[in-house]
Amino acid sequence: MRWTGLINHYREYLPVSDKTPVVTLYEGNTPLVPAESLNKITGLQVFLKYEGLNPTGSFKDRGMTMAISKAKEKGASIVMCASTGNTSASAAAYAVRGGVKCVVLIPNGNIALGKLAQAMIHQAQVIAIDGNFDDALNLVKDITANYPVELVNSLNPFRIEGQKTAAFEICDFLGDAPEFHAIPVGNAGNITAYWKGYKEYKNLGKSQTLPRMLGFQAAGAAPIVHNKIIEKPETIATAIRIGNPASWKSAVQARDESQGLIDLVTDDEILQAYRFLAETTGIFVEPASAASVAGVIKLAKAGYFKGQMSHRIVCTVTGHGLKDPKTAMKELPEPVVVKSDRKAILSLIGL
Ligand SMILES: *Cc1c(COP(=O)(O)O)cnc(C)c1O
Repeated sequence: MRWTGLINHYREYLPVSDKTPVVTLYEGNTPLVPAESLNKITGLQVFLKYEGLNPTGSFKDRGMTMAISKAKEKGASIVMCASTGNTSASAAAYAVRGGVKCVVLIPNGNIALGKLAQAMIHQAQVIAIDGNFDDALNLVKDITANYPVELVNSLNPFRIEGQKTAAFEICDFLGDAPEFHAIPVGNAGNITAYWKGYKEYKNLGKSQTLPRMLGFQAAGAAPIVHNKIIEKPETIATAIRIGNPASWKSAVQARDESQGLIDLVTDDEILQAYRFLAETTGIFVEPASAASVAGVIKLAKAGYFKGQMSHRIVCTVTGHGLKDPKTAMKELPEPVVVKSDRKAILSLIGL
């Protein structure tokens, strides 16, 4: 099979027609990698949905191929988003691909360098505001409602449509839905999209069961867990540093309909899971992505999975670790420097 992007592959389940100009970088079709080291901790069969392998390094590409294609179909020439980083990286790349102008609003100083570099090199107009993500999103909503500019945040329903295909891929790969699905929650578009995807696939007879959805917010940015807006969200996991999620209601619906939960994990737990993944699975994710794994480890320790032995759980790991090498290096020692000499090297290796 030749993979030419998720719109072409899942066309019959998406709101596109022959007239839709497909703007694609051949996103999707990401691997579902078994994580044996997590099986040991949880007693479950754990898989990582490795979304960092999308073209711009995060799952945002799934939504963006749809959003930019539909914006073009409508004749838009400018798209705009607020972003903690990955949305802007993806919007900028797909806008170039589709030949439309891209404007992004970011919170000043809180964007991982790799993400900013992506938006800039793809020639997006990047505007940093003195405010946080929630402030940026409010401005984008206001401007796109009043001017001929297309909003490409996950409030755009086509974003959710594209992102739901990750659930299709999981069912296609496993032969059915897993028993559990764990996912980081920021603006809550992705948990909404997966739940929509799982439900649609079941209704179509393409899968038989539905997973429990397990969402995880960072402790300093956990509005859904606390059931109140967080005015000044704080977490090292900048991609989920959001105090007033746009898809709040539908995230709660996903949680309740699936009999799952939305819980919080501390920055320490996130960083531990982040290192654990890198050290034991060979997969390097960005901190926010590790929230799903941190949450699963937390639940396992609390006995949540007792009696569920060998059930399948998929953890979405949302973005690539290379986007934010600074966070990785902060934790690590500098490499040892020695003379260019065989003996010195052998003695360091212990040979
Ligand atoms: C956007 C993003 C999230 C959060 O997804 P939401 O749909 O906003 O809940 C998590 N991790 C990464 C890497 C992201 O880019």
